[in-house]
This record gives sequence, structure tokens and C-alpha cells, in this order.
Amino acid sequence: MTRRQALSRARELLVANNIESASLEAELLLRHILRIDRTLLYTEFDRELTPQQEESYRQCIERRLKGEPSAYITGHREFFGLDFLVDNNVLIPRPETELLVEQAITRSRKYSAPLIADIGTGCGAIAISLALSLPDAHIDAVDISEAAVAVAKRNCRKHSVQNRVRFLIGNMLEPLSEPADIIVTNLPYVRTADLPRVNTIGFEPPLALDGGIDGLDMIRRLCFQVREKIKPLGCLLMEIGMGQSEAVTNLLRSIFPSAYIEVITDLSGIKRVVCLTLPR
Ligand code: GLN
Repeated sequence: MTRRQALSRARELLVANNIESASLEAELLLRHILRIDRTLLYTEFDRELTPQQEESYRQCIERRLKGEPSAYITGHREFFGLDFLVDNNVLIPRPETELLVEQAITRSRKYSAPLIADIGTGCGAIAISLALSLPDAHIDAVDISEAAVAVAKRNCRKHSVQNRVRFLIGNMLEPLSEPADIIVTNLPYVRTADLPRVNTIGFEPPLALDGGIDGLDMIRRLCFQVREKIKPLGCLLMEIGMGQSEAVTNLLRSIFPSAYIEVITDLSGIKRVVCLTLPR
């Protein structure tokens, strides 16, 4: 079978099973098997697959058809233009979270050598993207999952930012030894009842998604810890889910009555990031 034939057959199978972006996914998995980039795939499109390659590709497609996300099959996901290693101990970074990173970069530029805390770092995508974009920043990256921190540490070495990212295992802001200038976080915020609707369910760690009955359990807990762990003039940036902005801004206003609060909308028009800036 040629690459062209394998790809077209895989695409048909994915489409028949209602897998979104079937063409892209089929191509991603084939490139993973062949370990080649896009250009090479298409310049030698009519080359034959070896029997082993054919078999490996068939197995990848089978896993994908059973619902396993392609990021776990390939072990990689691109985020903020960077390649991150992922496995089923960590949430797969989502494109909408790039907004959180962009906002954190813009706001961090106002501080000299800022100390940034990334809470619930998972594979380290946010912490490492920030470290690479802000050469004078130091980052404390916290996660309660040791397995997640192990993945994040591998990503940190891969991107050579070990000297500026420190990993701490523990519950939200508790492990921080000093207050941060910027706290950035993508906590689990999916309502428990909505978990079955997350299309990676059964594969991604529920710990990284489940936010309790209204989705705000973790966000609430973090908000109450913030005062002790943020510097004067500091800034808190949180990713939130659809429909949560009012509850979160009301909560923050009740804890920090004189702070400045903004809500930033993502490319899909969803209120996605809440930013709290402490007053003088
Ligand atoms: N945006 C993710 C989803 O809906 C949830 C991420 C999170 O809970 N922080 O799948």
C-alpha cells in the first residue's frame, strides 16, 4: 500500500466514525509512524509503506477510532508554537490556553525579573512557554500530581529552561515559598455533570478537568489562597469555562474589593481569561 492509499483509507475510517479533522489526524498519525515532516510526506506520496509501517499505522488508527486522542498516541502536542511531550498523566494543552499565555506575557513585561507561579502545570506547557518568551522571568510550576511533574520536567529539559523553572509538588499555592508577581493558572473547571461531554473523556486525567458541581471548586479554593501568595501590585490570571465569568468576577470582587478585574474573550467569543490586578 502506498502512503497515498493508506492515508485515504484512514481518512475514510475516521470520517465514518465521526472523528473531527479526519484528514489532519490521519496525516499526523502517518507522519508519526514514518517520522517525517509534511513536505517529505507529500513529495514521496506514492512510496510504498513497509509491512511493519502498515501494521503500526493500522494500530494507531484503531486506537484513534476507540477515542484515544492523537496526542497520546504520538506522545506529542504542539502548543504556542512549541512541541510538548504528553501522556495520559497530563491534560492535553488546548489552543484556547494560548490566550492565557499571551496575556501573562504582556502583563509580565511590566515587572523586572518577575516571579511567576503556574498552578496546576500539567505537562508544563504554560510555564515553559512563559520561560521561553520572558528571558528574565523565574517560574514556580506547581502540580499535585507527581506523574504530571515528571512529564513537565522532561519538557523543561527538552526546551532547556531548567535553570529558570522550578517544580513543586503540592496543593495549589501552598508549596510556594515566596509571593509571586504573577499567578497564572488553568485549573480544572469542567462541571462534573459535563465531564461525559469532553471528547477525550476516559483518556485524560479527571483530576485535570473535574471542577465539581458548578466547575468552580478549585478556582474558589485558589482565590481564597491568593492574598498570602501574591506581591503588592501583583496580577492573577485564570482560565475559565464558558458561562463562568460572572461567578468568578463576583467572587474576586468580594475578596479583593479594590482590585481591577478584566475578562478577556477568546477567538470563539467565549469569556476565557479573568485577570485581577492588585491596587497600590
Ligand atoms: N477547556 C477544557 C475542555 O473543555 C477544560 C480545561 C480545564 O478544565 N481547565 O476540555
